[in-house]
Amino acid sequence: MEELNEEEDWFDQFVRYSRRGFITKDKSPELSNLKKRFDWFLRVHSQDPALIKPYPHIIFNFMDSENIGGFTGKEGDTYYIAISDATELILKDLFLRMLSHPNILTKIGDPTKEHFSQPIPDYFFNIRQMVESGHKGNYSLVKPKDVAREQYAYHLTYLALDYLFFHELSHILFGHIDLLKSGKGLGEDIPYHTDIVDRRNFDMQTLEMDADCSAIGRASEPLMDAHKKRDTIESPHHRNFYNDPYNLLSDLLFAAYNVIRLYGEGNFRDLSLGSATHPEPRIRQMMLSWTMGPVADQHNLDRGKMNSMLVPTIIESERAYTALTGNQIDRESFNPKYIDSNPLPRELRNNWTLNIREKLLPYTYKKLAS
Ligand SMILES: [Zn+2]
Repeated sequence: MEELNEEEDWFDQFVRYSRRGFITKDKSPELSNLKKRFDWFLRVHSQDPALIKPYPHIIFNFMDSENIGGFTGKEGDTYYIAISDATELILKDLFLRMLSHPNILTKIGDPTKEHFSQPIPDYFFNIRQMVESGHKGNYSLVKPKDVAREQYAYHLTYLALDYLFFHELSHILFGHIDLLKSGKGLGEDIPYHTDIVDRRNFDMQTLEMDADCSAIGRASEPLMDAHKKRDTIESPHHRNFYNDPYNLLSDLLFAAYNVIRLYGEGNFRDLSLGSATHPEPRIRQMMLSWTMGPVADQHNLDRGKMNSMLVPTIIESERAYTALTGNQIDRESFNPKYIDSNPLPRELRNNWTLNIREKLLPYTYKKLAS
């Protein structure tokens, strides 16, 4: 077993102290590649001309934990981003299953080569549950027969992990962590009158919305760079995924949308504000898809064309869920009655503009959106 270097040792102590797990030693080749990729993202962001103060010291690593997800924290002047190693396995398992199914994502490769695999009871959140329930205790990945489909599953896994990484990085660079650590400002003096169940949660939900929406914009940047340099991509299948910028952004939305789906369907009938630290998954998914218009603008793409691809992307995600699990989705969650009348998206944006934005100003490393 390899010795930990100084930064790895700090990271290990930090996640142990936070009672989240410990550092993943002896990483798989996939995790080692991802670690290099995320360290490279950190270096790119340290050169960002939009920085308004010196870039902080940020240590990224994987932690040994059974559940999917990541977290961010700070100790002294150092920030830490941890993503559980289970996340990579669970996402890869999910996307490989999707592409092994002949009726899911049929535009990719040759789906007629695939055969229907054993249905799973639900999407997995926990690796132990996945091995026991999805593989009958004997873990082996279900792989598509078609090479292009297999490559596409890995492509989606990387996009999903990029999205998670940038979600956590946004909590740092937009000052969320420092505001939380300041011990004041959250849950206090919301300067307008609204019926809020828990004011601190409502502010937390506002920060999560900010991290979700900025993550998809940030995660689109390396993809668009790779699109411009696609001639240099070695694998012909992989190069193909980078040909069309609109398809690429749809892939990113599909991947991020499914990451949030792992947290369940949620209670979208809950129209209250601040009932949990994160907005309900359906609301998070909706807000993400609304962000794709501005993301198209960011890359000088046609917003109308981008928007026309959102509904098919969402429908495909929902169809995949039903095909893999046999569970019917609750279609009521797409009823405009719940989407349009849910006050949360509007109120979170109001809270960001009228309250949280000003509180983040002393802490943010980057210019905040207006
Ligand atoms: Zn978060």
